[in-house]
Amino acid sequence: MKIICIGRNYVEHAKELNNPVPTKPMFFVKPDTALLRTHMFYIPPFSNNIHYELELVVKIKKVGKSISKRFAHKYYDEISLGLDLTARDLQEECKEKGMPWEIAKGFDSSAPIGRWYQKKDLKSLDFYLLKNGEKVQEGNPSQMVFDVDSIIEYVSKFMTLKKGDLIFTGTPSGVGKMEVNDVFEAYLDGKKTIDLRVK
Ligand code: MG
Repeated sequence: MKIICIGRNYVEHAKELNNPVPTKPMFFVKPDTALLRTHMFYIPPFSNNIHYELELVVKIKKVGKSISKRFAHKYYDEISLGLDLTARDLQEECKEKGMPWEIAKGFDSSAPIGRWYQKKDLKSLDFYLLKNGEKVQEGNPSQMVFDVDSIIEYVSKFMTLKKGDLIFTGTPSGVGKMEVNDVFEAYLDGKKTIDLRVK
């Protein structure tokens, strides 16, 4: 399976990192080794600035290529939350040098994932992230620059989507640094979906 991540899909987040709001979806891919299903994340030795980015995640349920937007909803029925963990220091270096982002985005355990739910009307799904009990991020899919169906249409022009692939749909504003002993709890539609301790 692969993990497709959409960048800059919320206006306020694009602004907080001084990035332009894209005119078409932008995405990158994390390998399957990025997936983290446990409740413990260990800060890797190669970065001094690991950021959390809380994102709505959809799971692809059947193979598809060049999927049109009006059929895209048939390709997923489970949703969750994930953290698109980012070595911001390495990413800044990559951006400056025009290099790809894999070392900053695709490292082991860089994609903690929560529990899965059957999808509902996405626009009714508020989600938020608590860091040590304090709310640091909140969002709703209605704030996305490109909605999930548009993302599926766009990505599947370039890459065949397969059963089990995950799409991280971009983060709202409020991203920040993870420190040792931080506890992150994420809620989707009022339900605790992620519970992660940093070591
Ligand atoms: Mg992200």
